[in-house]
Amino acid sequence: MLLEVRDLHVEFRTRDGVAKAVNGVNCSVDAGETLAVLGESGSGKSVTAQAVMGILDMPPGRIAAGEILFRERDLLKLKEEERRKIRGAQMAMIFQDALSSLNPVLSVGDQLGEMFVVHQGMSKKDGRAKAIELMDRVRIPAARERVRQYPHQFSGGMRQRIMIAMALALEPALIIADEPTTALDVTVQAQVMELLAELQREYHMGLILITHDLGVVADVADKIAVMYAGRIVESAPVHDIYKAPAHPYTRGLLESIPRLDQKGQELYAIKGLPPNLMHIPPGCAFHPRCPMARDVCRTDEPPLYEVSEVRGSACHFWRECLHG
Ligand code: SF4
Ligand code: MG
Repeated sequence: MLLEVRDLHVEFRTRDGVAKAVNGVNCSVDAGETLAVLGESGSGKSVTAQAVMGILDMPPGRIAAGEILFRERDLLKLKEEERRKIRGAQMAMIFQDALSSLNPVLSVGDQLGEMFVVHQGMSKKDGRAKAIELMDRVRIPAARERVRQYPHQFSGGMRQRIMIAMALALEPALIIADEPTTALDVTVQAQVMELLAELQREYHMGLILITHDLGVVADVADKIAVMYAGRIVESAPVHDIYKAPAHPYTRGLLESIPRLDQKGQELYAIKGLPPNLMHIPPGCAFHPRCPMARDVCRTDEPPLYEVSEVRGSACHFWRECLHG
């Protein structure tokens, strides 16, 4: 297994107390596989990704327990210097906002080229040639001319392609993309997602796609982990989830996907707000918002029930949900 996260717990110290941002997350991704991590903001998906990358703000963040195995080595036991080496060359991250992740006063060619100069000791000239090659790879038209331009001279979609090129530069084994297309409009979203999926297959990388939008990942993910209040509440192969969700929260997310043929129609959105992580509701954390909630849900926290060998659901009534 390329990456395996085991029983991860992350806490944040705030003025008002301790917020449990991640509460016992287990997930894995193999080479050539795409895992989509889905949830609303505040569900713990970005924090999980930051813990894997080793870029959590610490303090106030603290990994309270767990293991993060990358190629069988626990990253949490490595020295910061070793960690940095792995982060540079073997795993890379793509963020939502390319404009703030790219350096505004360096041409994109210099930024891409620098990856090779710094990490592989290439000359500036060779770095530049590599930059053009990468820009071609992510299908930026007229790469040879545009290599001299600055980030603000590119459209949002093209900037996100540059971010993908940066992430790919050193051919990492794992890429984590946190809401990579959220800032883009719908057609551009699909193109960027398609490109990412294509490169992932070609390079046989592990890809973790973090998103709040199930619609975006439908065609590219192999499996999905749905997070709520710092836990994984459903995890399954993507086609299983689309066939029938085994958790009411997943069902709510599925019913919230905007569909082109539904334009103008009101979408079902899940009522209410995600919980304050300092006061996670007792029992099932989703119970205040759940249309299927019963008495037991307010007192007994559901474990991740085994729905099948490859599927889990943290709902006492997963059978009903699946068949209902
Ligand atoms: Fe809803 Fe109860 Fe299932 Fe939680 S355990 S998702 S409250 S039905
Ligand atoms: Mg986030």
